[in-house]
Amino acid sequence: MARIGFVGLGVMGAPMAGHLLNAGHTVNVWNRTQGKADWLVEKGAKVAPNLASLAESSEVIISCVGRSEDVEQVVVAMADCAAEGTLFIDQSTIEPAMARSLASRLAEKGLRFVDAPVTGGSMGAQNGTLTIFCGGSAENVEEAIEVMKPYTKRAERVGEAGAGQMMKLANQVAVGGALVGLCESLAFAAKAGLDVEQAHSMIGGGAGGSWAFQNYGPKLLSSDWTPGFSVKNQTKDFGYCESAAAELGVEVPMTALVNQLLKRLSEVGREEDTTAALYDVYLDRL
Ligand code: NAP
Repeated sequence: MARIGFVGLGVMGAPMAGHLLNAGHTVNVWNRTQGKADWLVEKGAKVAPNLASLAESSEVIISCVGRSEDVEQVVVAMADCAAEGTLFIDQSTIEPAMARSLASRLAEKGLRFVDAPVTGGSMGAQNGTLTIFCGGSAENVEEAIEVMKPYTKRAERVGEAGAGQMMKLANQVAVGGALVGLCESLAFAAKAGLDVEQAHSMIGGGAGGSWAFQNYGPKLLSSDWTPGFSVKNQTKDFGYCESAAAELGVEVPMTALVNQLLKRLSEVGREEDTTAALYDVYLDRL
C-alpha cells in the first residue's frame, strides 16, 4: 500500500480519493476549499495543512485540478519538498505541451511524472470505471496504473509524457461530435412537433444512438443541467484541442463549431451547467 497525497477534491478528484481509501492506501489530501475534504476525513483521510507538507509525506502525488496553469501552480509548489523519486500523476485535462514541460522540470529535480487524464465522467469517477490515457516512461506508467487501479476500468500507456493529454484531446473531439449530434437531433425533432421522449428512445436505440444519447439524453428531457462535465471544462478542453490542432496543422472544424455554440452558454453565465445544456442553445432558451 502506498502513501498517497491527493490534490483537488472536485467532482472527479473526491470520489477518486475515496476509492484509494477504500483500497487501503494511506491518503493525505489538500484542497483549496477545505470543506470539500470533510467526508474523506470521515473515511480516514488526513488533511495536510499545505501543499509542501502534503508533498513531504507522500510517495505518490495525484492531482486532479483544472487548467494547465492550475496544475503548474500546485506541482511547482510541491516539487521542492518531495523526496527524490516521488511519482507525480496528473489526472487533469491540460495542454500536452504543459505535461511535457512539467515532466522535464520534475525530472531535473529527480522526480517522476505521468500525465493520466481520464474519461468516463463523474459517474465513472464515482463507480471506479474510468478510462485513463497514460503518458510517460513504461516503468512510471506501470507504477501509476497500479496506484490508479481502484478507480480504473481501462488504463494504458499511449506514449511518452504529453501523449496521454494528446489522446484525451482526441477523445474530446469525439465527445463533442456525439454531444452536438444528440442536441441537434432532438432540437430538430422538437421543432418538427414530434414527441421528444419518443425521438430520444427510438433514435437512441438505433444507428443514431450513442453514449451521449444514453447518458445526456435523460438530462435533456428533464432540463437537468447539474454537472457532470461542465461547459467551463469542455470549452477549456476544446481550446486546447484547437491550439494543439493548429500546431499539428490539422483541421478540426466540428470541434471549433461545438466550441462556439458552447461559448454562447458561457456568455450568459451558464459555464457551470453540464454540457448537455447545449440543447438550450438550439432551442433559443438562453
Ligand atoms: P471541479 O469539480 O471544478 O474541481 C476542480 C478542483 O481543482 C477543485 O478541487 C478546485 O479547488 C481545484 N483547483 C482548481 N484550480 C486550482 C488551483 N489553481 N489551485 C488549487 N486547486 C485548484 O472540476 P472536475 O470536474 O473535478 O475536473 C477536474 C479535472 O478533471 C479538469 O481538468 C477536468 O477537465 C477533468 N475532467 C473532468 C471530468 C468531469 O466529468 N467532470 C471528466 C474528465 C476529466 P476548489 O474546491 O477550491 O475550487
